[in-house]
Amino acid sequence: MNTENSDHSKFKMDWQDELKAIASKVKYDEPLSKHTSFSIGGPALAFVEVNSIGELKSIVSFRERFKLPVMVIGRGTNILVSDAGYNGVIVVLSKGLSQIKFDGTQVTAGAGITLNRLTKQLLQNSLSGMEFAYGIPGTLGGALIMNVGAYGQEIGEVVTQILLMTHKGEVITISNEQAGFDYRKSDLKQYFCILEATLQLKRDSKEKIEAEMKKLYKERQSKQPLSLPSAGCVFKNPLPSASGQAGASAGKLIDECGLKGSKVGGAEVSQRHANFIVNSSSATAKDVLDLIDLVRERVKSQTGIELELEIQLIPREH
Ligand SMILES: Cc1cc2nc3c(=O)[nH]c(=O)nc-3n(C[C@H](O)[C@H](O)[C@H](O)COP(=O)(O)OP(=O)(O)OC[C@H]3O[C@@H](n4cnc5c(N)ncnc54)[C@H](O)[C@@H]3O)c2cc1C
Repeated sequence: MNTENSDHSKFKMDWQDELKAIASKVKYDEPLSKHTSFSIGGPALAFVEVNSIGELKSIVSFRERFKLPVMVIGRGTNILVSDAGYNGVIVVLSKGLSQIKFDGTQVTAGAGITLNRLTKQLLQNSLSGMEFAYGIPGTLGGALIMNVGAYGQEIGEVVTQILLMTHKGEVITISNEQAGFDYRKSDLKQYFCILEATLQLKRDSKEKIEAEMKKLYKERQSKQPLSLPSAGCVFKNPLPSASGQAGASAGKLIDECGLKGSKVGGAEVSQRHANFIVNSSSATAKDVLDLIDLVRERVKSQTGIELELEIQLIPREH
């Protein structure tokens, strides 16, 4: 073995040993297609489940020491990962960072909790305000980053404060105003990790909350292609009005341009909802990106409108 190869092997052994010492669940060369709702994405150097703030702080020190890219994700329901994978460490939050605490009508939940579990727990406690999120398949952390919304409501409307970790490993609390919530975006992306959020809800009857959740879920089922892998809406709705709210529907524009059913490789513009690209048969990230370009070009040439991506692209990082 030449010196360069042996240095590289030693470096790999060192960082792998250190990761193993930090977290109990570590997988190497883990295909990210297993961790994204698109079922697309090459391998990450490592995939780590962390269970505490202490472990996350150690991950920050690990990154400093080994200079490897590190990224926190949730359930991978709003991301398109490169076919070449991620040349670094992907971190997900497990049980210890997915707990929920009730204090009257205020609820503080760990960022790793799924929106489905959160909304069901709120229902059990007769708390209203998050019914719209029932059926959105991500975590609270991802929902805050994206300021998720549906049926005219957004998560930013019920958040009072957020606990997060900076890239230096400091744990800080910020207010709703500091989070910069806007249509399908926030200023939270600049931090290393969202840890938990406090939500202000309203007391209401279980029957009413459950009926609303069921109604909205039924609507979701009737309009979205839920049986095929996807990452939800690919594009943001364009033309925000002066009030900052979304205007025209991206799905309607794509449909009107005759793009439903358009395909590149295994990626297809859904017949059911034109703003969804579905992985209908072993699609690659490149298939999806090429289809995105095709849709954007056609919509631009036929309507003059430039569609902006809602999904996040995760490049390999070199
Ligand atoms: C079938 C389907 C339906 C959907 N319907 C809707 C809908 O109605 N409305 C809507 O708004 N969205 C919808 N989505 C999109 C998606 O579910 C949401 O954006 C979701 O909240 C993303 O959460 P996630 O945990 O999957 O985040 P991921 O996709 O894993 O990550 C999204 C971004 O957040 C970052 N991130 C995640 N967690 C953390 C954390 N703890 N700390 C720091 N950064 C973090 C990631 O790095 C990434 O940049 C839908 C998706 C699908 C597949």
